[in-house]
Amino acid sequence: MSSRQSEPKGVALITGAAQGIGRAIALRLADDGYDIAVNDLQDMPELDEVIKTIEEKGRRALATPGDVSEELVVIEMIQRTVSTLGSLDVMVANAGIVIPEPFLETSVAAFDKQMAVNARSVMLCYKYAAEQMIAQGRGGRIIGASSMAGKQGVDMLLAYSATKFAVRGMTQSAASSLGKHNITVNAYAPGGVETRILNVFDDFLEPLAGPRAGRDGLIKSSVVGRIGEPEEIAHLVSYLASKEAGFITGQTVRAPLYVSTLSDLHIHRFRSTEVLILTSVLI
Ligand code: NAD
Repeated sequence: MSSRQSEPKGVALITGAAQGIGRAIALRLADDGYDIAVNDLQDMPELDEVIKTIEEKGRRALATPGDVSEELVVIEMIQRTVSTLGSLDVMVANAGIVIPEPFLETSVAAFDKQMAVNARSVMLCYKYAAEQMIAQGRGGRIIGASSMAGKQGVDMLLAYSATKFAVRGMTQSAASSLGKHNITVNAYAPGGVETRILNVFDDFLEPLAGPRAGRDGLIKSSVVGRIGEPEEIAHLVSYLASKEAGFITGQTVRAPLYVSTLSDLHIHRFRSTEVLILTSVLI
């Protein structure tokens, strides 16, 4: 039976899904058999293409645009999803931004903006998705976007790192509250993945270190020696959303491991075995 004819597995809602990792997650969960609601900022024409592609896969799709750092937007997004598609079974709080700044130039405006988009929106999505899933009474899956920078603080990314550590904390806290409702809460912590976010890093670093310095640094320090593809993160999310992942909760899963996000200066001060031990403690 093709997915066009099959009953949906449930309904998944993905924020920041017009492009990049969010788009790949939306398409993968559609392939897995979910009907899909997609969010991104207003005026993102890419969202129309995502909707069209999901519908071509034989699944129902809903666009519910808006800024997910705002409480009312999140409340209405979830209400629209449920009233149009029938339920909410998988919530993926993926939307995020990065504003690199040298440490001594860290600004309140950029700090607050990243906190709002990367951390407050996750709190809102976790809270209101859980409220809906508890009311449905059949469990659910809640998944958030952390980062390698949420496992270890990264130079020039003080605020971004803080937001991604916050996602890990919220993921553990929400998992503790929601286990009794059969709702799992996990997060993914990507390293360098080929999306527009990497262009922001490269553009920022170019005057300091030349073109592609961000991508090249990530390739050099990754144990797999390459940049990832959005679909590789979507495979992980697909698993975390699956029935089979019901015993996994409160986890933030790295993809992949980086061994030298410590500055070169620090690495020179440790023997390689000590660096590996230190890195494994930080995972
Ligand atoms: P991306 O820029 O391609 O996609 C992010 C999407 O979020 C964009 O479409 C953007 O318009 C949307 N968005 C931004 N602010 C929003 C808001 N307030 N409300 C709704 N939508 C909003 O980036 P991506 O790489 O696909 O990032 C997805 C997630 O993965 C982010 O949380 C990011 O921090 C995280 N991440 C990415 C990488 C990477 O290397 N690409 C690494 C670690 C973590």
